Amino acid sequence: ANGAHVPAIVIGSGYGAAVSALRLGEAGIETTVLEMGRLWNEPGGDGKVFCTMTSPDERSMWFKRRTEAPLSTLLWLDVVNRDIDPYPGVLDRVNYADMSVYVGRGVGGGSLVNGGMAVVPRRDYFEEVLPGVDANAMYDRYFPLAQTELQVNTIDTEFYKSTEYYRFSRVAAAQAEAAGIKTVFVPDVYDFDYMEREAAGTAEKSALGGEVIYGNNHGKMSLDKTYLASALATGKVTIAARHQVRSIELDADGNYALTVEHRGDADELIETKRLTCRHLFLGAGSLGTTELLLRARDTGALPDLDEAVGSGWGPNGNVMTARANHLWNPTGLKQSTIPVMGIDDWDNPEARVFAELAPLPAGIETWISLYLAITDNPERGRFTYDAAADKAVLDWSLEQAQPGVAAAKSMFDRINERHGTSYRYDLFGDDRAFADDFCYHPLGGCVLGKATDGYGRLNGYERLYATDSSLIPGSIGVNPLVTITALAERNLEAIIAADFA
Ligand code: FAD
Repeated sequence: ANGAHVPAIVIGSGYGAAVSALRLGEAGIETTVLEMGRLWNEPGGDGKVFCTMTSPDERSMWFKRRTEAPLSTLLWLDVVNRDIDPYPGVLDRVNYADMSVYVGRGVGGGSLVNGGMAVVPRRDYFEEVLPGVDANAMYDRYFPLAQTELQVNTIDTEFYKSTEYYRFSRVAAAQAEAAGIKTVFVPDVYDFDYMEREAAGTAEKSALGGEVIYGNNHGKMSLDKTYLASALATGKVTIAARHQVRSIELDADGNYALTVEHRGDADELIETKRLTCRHLFLGAGSLGTTELLLRARDTGALPDLDEAVGSGWGPNGNVMTARANHLWNPTGLKQSTIPVMGIDDWDNPEARVFAELAPLPAGIETWISLYLAITDNPERGRFTYDAAADKAVLDWSLEQAQPGVAAAKSMFDRINERHGTSYRYDLFGDDRAFADDFCYHPLGGCVLGKATDGYGRLNGYERLYATDSSLIPGSIGVNPLVTITALAERNLEAIIAADFA
């Protein structure tokens, strides 16, 4: 309610936020979670909670008039996107000048829209990226804990080898291996037993029915089914959906006072609330957390926040690309939306690349092999606060994406040379083979050990914490969800032990 005081508030409900909510609740601390997106638990007129990728409706995207899918064209034709009514849909594309960032909106954050690939980073690279974090504790305790809580599982290899739904992956994997590049299976939070029932025709299709970036109606163990369900079960945690935090300040008692807007489906303002708390956890994602902190610092509400807030941002070296296969190498009409294999060339000192074999479930044969490459791009962007627009803007140029493109190109050139194949230029607009202007993996903006102490406590203030992807300095070498989760587990354990005594 308006004016209420709670011991702890968590902003957002993605990975970092969900871990915070569970561990605070278990410690007996009354906690309110504030999430700007919807609670996705009620079916629409078609009986489904989420819409499909092939016929998106207003549930697909966050207040857009037309969908903005990552692959915008096929054969240069604008056949992918659809006009929609503005609505608090589940996937947002935040467009900065030279970089667009996809993020999930809803109770569960990115877990509602992502591919669920749950990859533990290489230890040597983790130590390079986060040298201040005890790697023994991470690899012995927090990574396994995160995998258990997230319900990570791995596809059965016999099913993988035999099902038509992974032909696209087998084709791409064989080509990489023939070019001398290693492939690895990738674990996921999608329930592969459920997927086998989908394939057998005994369960409703979700991953095998073209669902993923606009939500999975079945199969995916998103955070609302794991961490957030456990958090609610403690009886100490409440979640308020469609509650967006606008600003943070300190009140005279040393509590954090939040201005929060409760909005409806037409984005109408239902109520502006002031909520106070003793301990404040920011889990609004790399973009959301950084923007709230920059606004607080640069409007003078929390002037002692570190100069480092806003810097150290990167897209995890994300570059998407696609190859055209020969006619005798079809990739299949039927494709699972959940990637289960990666090409691992990270040991190549010239160009470190880890690329997931991505599906293109178009419902027609395309002969396309699609990839999301994660590269070791050292370039970093910076967020600044634009006072006139009251928004964070990202300082990142297309040039800064080029080291990632060069690395990806050097690897895929080897595959093309080996097989006499070429790139597809028709998928990303403007005759481009490499999509270097969007990402799925925004990381940084409030970097661990720079803007915070070694556990995510914001420099300059007490009882104020960052818990999400904003802590990771721009790159982690694999899909980031397990790292975000495990790091939050580690940080929350230390914070609850020391700061709530
Ligand atoms: P998020 O999950 O981004 O959650 C932040 C939440 O905070 C959101 O729900 C947002 O609505 C809310 N919020 C923001 N601002 C406010 C505010 N002011 N007030 C209230 N609420 C607010 N990663 C993987 O590891 N494997 C994958 O397979 C994978 N695939 C992906 C596919 C897609 C299409 C996308 C978009 C991402 C993918 N990712 C994947 C990335 C992964 O989902 C993100 O790294 C992860 O979700 C980030 O977690 P987080 O805790 O930082 O915050």
